[in-house]
Parts: sequence; C-alpha cells; structure tokens
Amino acid sequence: MSPSDSHTSSRPTRTARVERIFDHTSDTRSLFLAPVDGSRLRYLPGQFISIAITLPDETRTRPYTIASPPTGGTPFEICFNRVAGGRGADWLFDRQLGHSVEFTGPYGAFTMESVPAVETIFLADATAIAPIRAMIQHAAESTAPPLMTLLYAARSPEHILYRAEFESLAARARGFHFEPLILPQSELYEGLRTETERRWVRGDGNRSRHFYICGIGKGVIALRDLLRGAGYERRAVHYEQW
Ligand SMILES: Cc1cc2nc3c(=O)[nH]c(=O)nc-3n(C[C@H](O)[C@H](O)[C@H](O)COP(=O)(O)OP(=O)(O)OC[C@H]3O[C@@H](n4cnc5c(N)ncnc54)[C@H](O)[C@@H]3O)c2cc1C
Repeated sequence: MSPSDSHTSSRPTRTARVERIFDHTSDTRSLFLAPVDGSRLRYLPGQFISIAITLPDETRTRPYTIASPPTGGTPFEICFNRVAGGRGADWLFDRQLGHSVEFTGPYGAFTMESVPAVETIFLADATAIAPIRAMIQHAAESTAPPLMTLLYAARSPEHILYRAEFESLAARARGFHFEPLILPQSELYEGLRTETERRWVRGDGNRSRHFYICGIGKGVIALRDLLRGAGYERRAVHYEQW
C-alpha cells in the first residue's frame, strides 16, 4: 500500500487558511497554512497531511509533507513543485491568500520520533527535502544533536531549497554538514548513489549510522537496498518514496 492510499481513516477533516505564499522558484512553492479553528497541528517531523483537491471532474486526495518542524507553530508549511500533467499540484498552485484547504492527518511513519544518538545521514532530492528539513531542524534543536550530513541533490542551484538556512546551520553547528549536489535531472539518483557508496559503504566499516532518504521514484529504493545490502540494519535505513 502506498502512503497515498494508506490514510483513508476516519480522522476528522480539518480546514486551514492560506496565510502566506513563498515562491522558491518559478515551479516550486511553499504555502503556510493555519487551521481556521485556531488549533495547533501536532505532528512528528516527517509526517504529511492529506489534502482534498477538488477538481471540476473529481476530488483527489494527495499527501503533502509538513516542511516546518513541530516547534515551528502556526502556520505550518508545505512545499511542492509542478509535476508534468499533475492536476493536483496545479490546483495547489492556484490557491491564493485567504483560500481554504481541507485536509486530514497528520499521517506517516517516515518520522524522526526520537533524535538518533549516532551519526545520521540525510539524502534528498529537490522538494523531497520537506520531511528532511523538519527532521534536521528538530534534531538541531535537541539537547544532544548527532553528527549530521545532508547530501541534497537538485537539477539547478535554485532548486536547492532552504539553502541559506542549511548554510547558516552548518556555520554555527559544528556537527552539521551540508552538501548540495547539482546534477542533470536524469542523474540525480546516480549521483546520490555514487557518493553514498563511496563514503558510507566503501569508505569505512562503520555500520552504526542512521539514514533518512526521501525522493521521487525508484532511486529511493535503490539507495535503501544499497545500504541494507552493505550491512546497515533495516531499522537504521528510513526511507519514503513519492
Ligand atoms: C507520503 C508522500 C508525501 C508527499 N509529500 C509531498 C510534498 O511535500 N511536496 C510535493 O510536491 N509532493 C509531495 N508528494 C507527492 C504529491 O502527493 C503528489 O503526488 C504530487 O503533487 C503530484 O500529484 P498530482 O495529482 O498533481 O499528479 P499525479 O497525476 O498524481 O502524478 C503523480 C506522478 O507524479 C510523480 N510525482 C509525485 N510527486 C512528485 C514531485 N514532487 N515532483 C515530480 N513528480 C512527482 C509520481 O511519482 C507520479 O508518477 C508526496 C507523496 C507522498 C506519497
């Protein structure tokens, strides 16, 4: 079952208002959403909400990850990009300030429930940084942040989202390393795979690290299998494929 199908539970539908819109690039946007009842959304870093997308001929439900950390308060942030032929994503781009969005959730098991005590590696591409950003901020705020590396691949420098934030964190937190990787779209996962193999598979025999991987398509599974096949424990390799 994919996460898109896994949340047809009886959780109540909630309504949020668009409080702010931020364009990262011409095809990537963040919406800042505030529940209209004044409540605060409680969630774990990495979780998503399910948004009801009301098209003229169908209503579809699509998951969008909460990109802000749980301590970020209200409004919370979702971040998304245009998808070729993606009518759900287009609908989200049509939302304006003050519009309402109906959602259920939060949902999802790709979470950082407790901050790892061991070195933690984050692998992401483009918008799939959303859950990873929430996790890194969460871990960085903890009393004992682990050694963390973010290897973040995108097809252009401007598609490295939250760059200033990651650079600033890397400058002030000695244990956080930020490494953007700019590659053609078709080579993003090959690039992530090559670097992962070089550093954390062939580089040493340490298999105590934890990994959080998020991205679009089967490259995520290939990374997971590479790490598990190299001897990392199943529970240490967390992943989510969109
Ligand atoms: C757990 C989960 C969390 C998600 N969180 C986010 C999020 O925070 N931000 C976000 O932009 N999307 C996210 N997605 C994807 C999102 O739910 C939609 O699938 C996406 O917006 C396309 O929906 P659509 O109805 O426009 O297109 P559809 O017609 O449903 O097209 C889906 C196709 O687009 C591909 N796809 C999905 N997401 C992307 C993407 N971001 N870029 C390029 N291709 C994509 C899928 O693999 C699939 O082939 C998430 C998906 C999952 C499963």
